[in-house]
Parts: sequence; C-alpha cells; structure tokens
Amino acid sequence: MKVLKFGGTSVGTAERIKNVAQLIVEDGQPKFVVLSAMSGTTNTLLEISGYYRLQNAVGASEVIVRLEQKYKEVVEALYTNEDLKKEAKRVMKGIFEYVRSFANRPFTIYEEKCIVAQGELISTNLMNLYLRQEGVKVGFLQALDFMRIDKNAEPDFQYIEEHLKEQIRAAGEQDVYITQGFICRNAYGDIDNLLRGGSDYSASIIGAAIRAEEIQIWTDIDGMHNNDPRVVAHTKPVRHLNFDEAAELAYFGAKILHPTCITPARMYNIPVRLLNTMDPKAPGTLVSNETEQNMIKAIAAKDGITSIRIKSSRMLLAYGFLRQVFEIFEHYKTSIDLITTSEVGVSLTIDRDKHLDEIVTDLKKFGAVSVDKDMVIICVVGDMRWDNLGFESKVVDALRNVPVRMISYGGSNYNISVLVRKEDKVKALQALSEALF
Ligand code: ASP
Ligand code: MG
Repeated sequence: MKVLKFGGTSVGTAERIKNVAQLIVEDGQPKFVVLSAMSGTTNTLLEISGYYRLQNAVGASEVIVRLEQKYKEVVEALYTNEDLKKEAKRVMKGIFEYVRSFANRPFTIYEEKCIVAQGELISTNLMNLYLRQEGVKVGFLQALDFMRIDKNAEPDFQYIEEHLKEQIRAAGEQDVYITQGFICRNAYGDIDNLLRGGSDYSASIIGAAIRAEEIQIWTDIDGMHNNDPRVVAHTKPVRHLNFDEAAELAYFGAKILHPTCITPARMYNIPVRLLNTMDPKAPGTLVSNETEQNMIKAIAAKDGITSIRIKSSRMLLAYGFLRQVFEIFEHYKTSIDLITTSEVGVSLTIDRDKHLDEIVTDLKKFGAVSVDKDMVIICVVGDMRWDNLGFESKVVDALRNVPVRMISYGGSNYNISVLVRKEDKVKALQALSEALF
C-alpha cells in the first residue's frame, strides 16, 4: 500500500479537497492518506490559544467566529448529499463547541495542544465525509489512537506499529484509510503533536509502520528544486536524491520536506516521492537509497544563523577542550550545525540564539569569544565523496567574490557547507547556480 500525505495548501479550499479526493481514487488502488489541516488553520488555532493564554475570551471568540464561518462555507461547497452535509455540520459544531469550552479557564501549553489538534481533525473529517459522498469505502482512523511520542518527544515506533495495525484490522478492508498528520499523544496520554510541519513526519512514521511500498508527500511545488526559486531564476526540480542528500537539503533550507521526515522511511528503505497536486503528472522528486554518482544535485540556504568563534591559547594540544565547549551547548539544549577547527580556535554555528548570552558567558572561560549574527549557511548537496575530484574546488571557486566565514567539507559524502553574511546570500546562491548547473 502507498501512503499519501497532502499538505495544508493541497487541501486549502473546498475545490482543492475535491481535487485531492479525485487523486486518491483515480487509479483504484488501496491507499493510506494522511492530511494536514487546511492552510492557515493551525496558525489561527494558535492565535485563538494566544488570546486564551491572556485570558481574553472575547478576543478568542472573535477569531473563532471567523474560522467557523470559513468552515461553514467549505461544508456548503463540499456536500450535495443532505445527510452527509448534516453530519459534517454536526461534527463542525462539536469541534467549535470544544474550542469555545476553553474560555475563562486556566490555559497552559496542554490546553493549547488540544486546540491546535483540531485543524487536522477538521480536515480529515471533511475528507472522510466527502469520500463517502463519492462512494468510496473509507476506513477513518484516529491518529490519537495510535500515534504516540515518548518522554523524549521521539516517536514510540513499537507502540505506533502495534496500535496502527490494530486500528487497520478493526477498520476492516477498505478502499482508502485516512488519518490526521501532525497530532499524537505523549507518554502521559495527553494530546500532543510532532511540531510545526509535522504531517510529513506522521506520513513517514506510518509508512514505516505498515512497510508501505512508497510514501508520497503531496504539496504545491514540483518536488525539491536545485536552488531556492525565490532567489534564483530558472531553478529546476531535482528528479532523484538519496536519503542523505534529501536529509541535508531538508535541514539546510529546502522547506518542502520536514527535516526529520526522512528517518523512518530510510529505516525500512521506503522510497519517498515529492509530488505536486497542481501538476499531478509531473515526475516530482524521488528520494531513495540509490545514489546518482558524480552529480551535484542542489543548493539550499538556511537563514538566521549565528556563528561563534572561540580563540584559545589553551586549546593547543589540549584534549578535552572540544568536549568542554560542546557541553556548554548541550547544557543550553542548543544544537550545533557547522563546525570548523584550527589549532588555536574553533568556530561553530547555531540556529537558535535563545541562550546566546549565557552560552557566550560560559565560553569566555575558555578563550576570547566573538559572535557574528545574521549569517546564512549555504549547503551544496550531491555525490561529493573526497575521491571525487574537483567538486569542492568548483564550489570554492564559484564563491571567489563572496566573503566566506566558514567552510565545512568531509562531514558526510554528500555535502559542502559554507557560511556567508545575509547580505551576500543572493550573490552566493546565484554564483553557485551558474557554476554548478
Ligand atoms: N498543520 C500543522 C502545521 O501547520 C502540521 C502540518 O501542516 O504539517 O504545522
Ligand atoms: Mg507542510
């Protein structure tokens, strides 16, 4: 069975929900469908939560009225069958009553997660009823019954696999199984989620759990592009990536795929296909464990990077120095992206500067610390094994007119990353595009 995940824009209007339903049933093959909330809904639910947090029930209510109105229109547009329309209205009424029930009560992150979960519950309910209207036999599974994270907020694979299989068995043989992306329960049984954009992750976890033949991530772009289409003209979709290349690209900027999404698929070697609902016949991007040799595939950029340099005379011949440096970052739960070292110093980058001041203060014990903010990591991905001659020199040469703060090469076979200033990003991306493609 294939797992198909449709993102927020793919189900963003009644019209698009109908298109997606068409796509689902077209080839008559059984499928497992994972849906995001309709685009904008998760943000709106967070806005409502923001008002509740401030104990502003009136503010929350105004936003709820607008959201409910939007869904009333969607329901009108979707259903011609009066019974199903009535059923859809009943479900919507229940959900909005639930959202309203949080007014004038203590409101914490736990309540917020309950509210934010409603977006996917709405979209899947709407799709379930619409598919039924189209005569499709649907097994409607509830992610909250099988999707679960452990105490470290990592998916609990064993639990998920067992419970998902149980749910599928209980639903019996159907044309299509459908469930919510993003939402789950935590180790204590409370409603939780897999973080923003987490529906891709849900799809990949489900694909791994049922050993799917393929996982398809449907969005509104034609696969992963070889450069940022917002910055560089004439970018092209990349036809094929291996799992490592895709993971590097997802992490370093190509927004189309959730960075952690690759992991479960790779675990069971399940190909992931990135496809476009606006152009379903386009080939998109295939991610699998095969490597196309000697090819540079794509360039991605990650903004909002801070680089930190620690210069230390004590580093000279000092084992344990890097460990002490890393422990400081670990203490503040801040992960390091790039790192370069020399005998007298080390430079590294972080993308979360929440604890920057504390980190810098602690690092000063070891040496002179300097910080550069507003930096950008540019990551070139492809088959760049070190015995593959000339690839790194092409990258460096392309950037001869761009000030480069760090270069990181050799960490994996698939990537070379450089750090530049924000104001040089466009120039760097264009220069690399011209030199490499
Ligand atoms: N609805 C969630 C979000 O907007 C999850 C997703 O779309 O993947 O982040
Ligand atoms: Mg998404």
